Amino acid sequence: MHVDLVESLRCPHAHEDGWLVASADDVVQRRIMRGVIGCPQCGSEWIVRDGVLAFDESARSAEVDDEHSPQESAAMRLAALLDLRDSRGTVVLVGQATRVGNEIAALTGVLLLAVNAPPAVAAQHSRLYSAHGLPLGVGTVRGVVLDSRHSGPVWLASAVRALERGGRLVAPATTAVPQEVKELARDANEWVGEVQVAASGLVPLRRGGIV
Ligand SMILES: [Zn+2]
Repeated sequence: MHVDLVESLRCPHAHEDGWLVASADDVVQRRIMRGVIGCPQCGSEWIVRDGVLAFDESARSAEVDDEHSPQESAAMRLAALLDLRDSRGTVVLVGQATRVGNEIAALTGVLLLAVNAPPAVAAQHSRLYSAHGLPLGVGTVRGVVLDSRHSGPVWLASAVRALERGGRLVAPATTAVPQEVKELARDANEWVGEVQVAASGLVPLRRGGIV
């Protein structure tokens, strides 16, 4: 888990949005290899082990390895769909999409977050496991790629929420395009869209009485 990604993380539990805090025991090249991530609001804590943050251990064991190996052409195609012409910001790859993570990082220089990567995916980037969508703050990332196992309503909603305005979302063709997203292109396998309106992350704060 890269230290720069910690500020994008949010507690997966149902309470008002708040930052998580990291306590690192071992940091290598700005990545927390061993430590604890905690929520000051509800007191929850999660362990970072071997650089991997698991919000849900069940999500880690549920992932299976497919046969195909990553290809540079697939990475280049995905980088184009995500409009990664510079190295700014963070891109989130979920499930099978994590296979091209190292190639995309090498091609573009963006910060990568691999969510629910299958065990065989060798990751030189940040990894986390979550069972209920992306535990990320509003507008904290520039691109999200969902695979078929992670394209239900919870995953879609959390992806739209985490994307900045103008951010790109790639999802399986069988998935309906959310209304906040403008479809840009599609083929038989997937579509790519752009987030038109920023997610309404301020609403819970207003309801909480903070102006
Ligand atoms: Zn919490």
